[in-house]
Amino acid sequence: MELYIFYNGYFYPQSAPLLSVLDRGLCFGDGLFELIRCIGGKFLLFDRHIQRMRKSAAFLEMPFPYRKDELLDYARKLVKVNGIKDGELYLEITRGEAPRYHEFPRDTKPNFFMVLNALRQMPENCREKGVKVITFPDIRWGYCHLKTINLLPNILAKEMAKKKGAYEALFIRGDEKGTYLTEGSSSSIFAIEGDVLITPEEDNILPGVTRAIVIEIAKQVNMKITERRLYMNEYKACDEAFLTSTVSEVLPVIRIDNKKIAKGIPGPKTEKLQSVYRSLMQSYLQ
Ligand code: PMP
Repeated sequence: MELYIFYNGYFYPQSAPLLSVLDRGLCFGDGLFELIRCIGGKFLLFDRHIQRMRKSAAFLEMPFPYRKDELLDYARKLVKVNGIKDGELYLEITRGEAPRYHEFPRDTKPNFFMVLNALRQMPENCREKGVKVITFPDIRWGYCHLKTINLLPNILAKEMAKKKGAYEALFIRGDEKGTYLTEGSSSSIFAIEGDVLITPEEDNILPGVTRAIVIEIAKQVNMKITERRLYMNEYKACDEAFLTSTVSEVLPVIRIDNKKIAKGIPGPKTEKLQSVYRSLMQSYLQ
């Protein structure tokens, strides 16, 4: 059965020819996206995702065409028409259609679409066993706090991870003190040293929705949290490491570039955060 998608206020079969070749998302990558989990027909942390999207749209001077409750209604209709209760909702806004000049066009209406797909398959038992990651140069731009649809560096990084049999690629940059890690190609990163949870500060990274929740949980379970630059030598020598994202949740990292992290198995503090996050997920559904 063909999927139905939401496009500018209406529902269409996924194969319907909707986007114009003049769309600025297509021509310039002038657009933003979000990915929201759908669990049992409800949406995980819907508010926070829409809030992030709205904020980024305002930064780019892109009008945001819907209220949050309208979008939630449309998203629920997608659940109904597609019969998908456990999935991932992809939302995209572009600046709309205009003759191809770089500067913002005047009076152009944005295009907004949502697609609900079944949840992607994760590698078997990866939440229990942990995953391997590789490093990849952070060749992205200076506005990584925006979830833009310009994802070529992220795609190259993830493809390299796949070729090397790893789950994720972690971006690295350098400063006078050495090489530091910023985030994954589609995830936020954490390390644990002793009783301190370290995660890169919000300095040219995406403010991950899952990252924010995990920081809240860590506070609740009385962990010490430091948001600062995380150097490669520390990461390789840390006691535990994990990554977070909407799809991955809290995922232990056990190897980086073929170097074991600690004993090469998920650590107890990671497992604790993972299980608390899992148990709270129901309460974040909208
Ligand atoms: N960083 C990047 C670059 C990402 O693409 C993602 C996933 N969208 C994340 C972090 C994790 O964000 P979230 O927890 O909001 O899914």
